[in-house]
Amino acid sequence: MSKKLLLGIFFACITFSVSAQDYFFKKFHPFNPEVPSPEEFLGYGIGDRHTRHDLIVAYLTKLSEVSDRASIHQYGQTHEGRKLVILTITSPQNLNNLEQLKQKHLQFTDPSQNPTNYDEVPIFINLAYNVHGNEPSSSEAALLTAYTLTASNHPEILNYLDKGVIFIDPTINPDGRDRHTQWANMYQGNPLVADPADAEHNEYWPMGRTNHYWFDLNRDWLLAINPESRGKLNWYHDWYPNVVTDFHEMGSQSTYFFEPMKTNGSLNPIMPKENYEDLNNLFGDYFSKALDSIGSFYFTKEVFDGTYPGYGSSYPDLQGGLGILFEQASSRGHKQTTDFGEITFPFTIRNQYTSSITTVKAAVENKAMLRKYQQDFFKSGLTNASKSRIQGYTFGDDYDANRVKAFVDKLLLHKIDVYKSGNRFVVPTRQPQYRMVQTMFETYDKYRDSVYYDASAWSLANFYNMKYSPVNSLNLGEKVTSTKSLVNTQAVQRSEYAYIIDYDDYNAVAALNYLQSKGLVLSSAFKPFTVKTTVGNKRFNYGALVVPVSLQQKKDADTVYQLVQEAQQKFQVPTYSIPSGYSVQGVDLGSRYISPITKPKAVMLIGQGTRSYEAGEVWHLLDTRVHMPITKVPMRNFGGLDLDKYNTLVMVSGSYNFSESQFNKIKDWVSKGNTLITIGTASEWAIDKKLVTEKLTKKEKDSTATVERKPYVDAPENIGKESVGGAIFKVDIDVTHPLAFGYRDTTIPVYKNNSVWLAPSKNAYATVGKYSKNPHVDGFITAKNMEENLKPSASLLVSEVGSGRVVLFADNPNFRGSWYGTNRLFLNALFLGDKIEVPE
Ligand SMILES: [Zn+2]
Repeated sequence: MSKKLLLGIFFACITFSVSAQDYFFKKFHPFNPEVPSPEEFLGYGIGDRHTRHDLIVAYLTKLSEVSDRASIHQYGQTHEGRKLVILTITSPQNLNNLEQLKQKHLQFTDPSQNPTNYDEVPIFINLAYNVHGNEPSSSEAALLTAYTLTASNHPEILNYLDKGVIFIDPTINPDGRDRHTQWANMYQGNPLVADPADAEHNEYWPMGRTNHYWFDLNRDWLLAINPESRGKLNWYHDWYPNVVTDFHEMGSQSTYFFEPMKTNGSLNPIMPKENYEDLNNLFGDYFSKALDSIGSFYFTKEVFDGTYPGYGSSYPDLQGGLGILFEQASSRGHKQTTDFGEITFPFTIRNQYTSSITTVKAAVENKAMLRKYQQDFFKSGLTNASKSRIQGYTFGDDYDANRVKAFVDKLLLHKIDVYKSGNRFVVPTRQPQYRMVQTMFETYDKYRDSVYYDASAWSLANFYNMKYSPVNSLNLGEKVTSTKSLVNTQAVQRSEYAYIIDYDDYNAVAALNYLQSKGLVLSSAFKPFTVKTTVGNKRFNYGALVVPVSLQQKKDADTVYQLVQEAQQKFQVPTYSIPSGYSVQGVDLGSRYISPITKPKAVMLIGQGTRSYEAGEVWHLLDTRVHMPITKVPMRNFGGLDLDKYNTLVMVSGSYNFSESQFNKIKDWVSKGNTLITIGTASEWAIDKKLVTEKLTKKEKDSTATVERKPYVDAPENIGKESVGGAIFKVDIDVTHPLAFGYRDTTIPVYKNNSVWLAPSKNAYATVGKYSKNPHVDGFITAKNMEENLKPSASLLVSEVGSGRVVLFADNPNFRGSWYGTNRLFLNALFLGDKIEVPE
């Protein structure tokens, strides 16, 4: 085809659909012809296809090149290497003065300053899109919004640019978005197929909602485990926007949702009332008028809650901004049949686009009020703190510097002031980020509501098993500005005899894996002992890792020393040089209680029927903390899998429907001496199918009791409150058991968000974790659930099958990649699994 002809076709397309694109932005003509529309740039109209993230970035980059209203900034990179960008759009004059405007804006976030020029500085608006990859309408709307703001010369738009600085984050989750984009485009029919049964509308596991490791990034703002959130948080605390959007999609059989959310009080108790009463209603009024004007239906108030602070629509609320949630009924694909006819991709995009422009309008028209609100917010943080008797929180851990470091990292990322005095850390309450301090340390047991959209507990100190206490007087010490120097391990000296790695440190497992992968054999101590080291006598706890030098058949002493040094430097674990095997106290180094451990060869079942979040958490843990590969086998391939190539099988929660021969394959394999690790409903499965002889906690079923009649309308609330949405409970653990090696505390907090209730084992040595007598730490649970189910149950069991064993976790130890306090239990199951016996 000649170039001319191609060009001809190209222009023909443009003329054809410029009018089609007017469906979105007709009212904002005239547009600057120098600025390419999305359609001109992409070669197809918005809504015709799903746009790949690299094209989104390319288009925004183009806008920054051709327009004097825009500049682009990369704030991070995803696991898969995609760029995370923000396009800043404002008037050319504002853009030239952005640094001064920023300094003026930031004065309002500093309680020690008292600026009153509320109306002078343009308002800072962060339009953020597509945190859930398979809710794609919003990124397409981002392109239209960016075009409108850079190209339109309509007086209304020029006014917004004069009075606002708009930060467009087009795709919060590019890895998930591209997964879904590929799916929707590859099944797109011509003509379109609206039948909901078509493949286009039914993505395959793990679907596009989550990021590379199948994490929900709309829960990660507080936990900050992933680079997407970490990059965003750094950007956030640089700019403190006044208004932040969070665009989503929901089921196709619905309309459109915007805030205010559910009113009956499942609200974060530390949030100012003005936020969810005044501001949300004020903005809601704008949204309803705008959607009315295009004939779109919507609803507010009846669902969703903004309690959990890790949503994209709630975190800004804790930073003096207004976070706004939008939910659009999804076309999931390009066109889908619903009860009202058809819902099309362009229709969903238009609603999101309309809300985007309306957000800018509402923010600009209320800018003085929003800015004063932010100023009051940070000032009230200090006032509230001064009313509290608690002066601060102190925490620390003498045995595990790397876990403490990980927690401090989190505090610093949220701009919480932290001080260090000796081995203790102090977080004073009287600081501008007081509400984040509350979020990290305060726990609740009284609730105004009982049905939660997600977690009802988020005290992060408990996630990290951080022993902390409130203090009434402060001894601050030195301010911590970075985590770099928090772990200081002494360089290990050379030994001809042995090295010992202290297993109490969080990174000990990573060091173990590193040395095993280099071919060294390590032993684990099943009893504590005290031994002479080159830096004096040292008592080692359960699980201490011993590297015997002369027993390494394939490595000489120099090589062993080099590897041990490498492991120590890489993971900063306390490592000691041992001159003699004769202990000062307890077992000697040649004891049968110090026993060589087998390198795990691990496989995990994934795919349709398994819970992608939990599988992703296992994968993420091993990749990013331990640096150990794990084979992920889709369920559809299980039949052909040679299990004998592995010694450890991980089954996360899921609905497992194995054939009899497949079940026997697992059972026979375990019986040969291998380890099966089950989490959540997979543990229930192992009991139901009688793979193990354990039992579930009996549920009382009295068939003769009369059932109390209740109003039909209350059913969702009544039923909803009996599910454990996510709460923290105390568990007593047996620290002498290999599964609990590395723990010093006999009581640890665990996260429960399921209804898996394991009965304690009949074997006296098999219940490794049992809920404590008074188990409540944080979050909502009904009294009935607490008494009948939780209190009598176990959290962690081991059960023998032949010469192998099944490790049954009732609760997910790896929850959202942030439970440093319990994921050691899981790693122990993986690395020490074959050492576990169930004594009769
Ligand atoms: Zn969503």
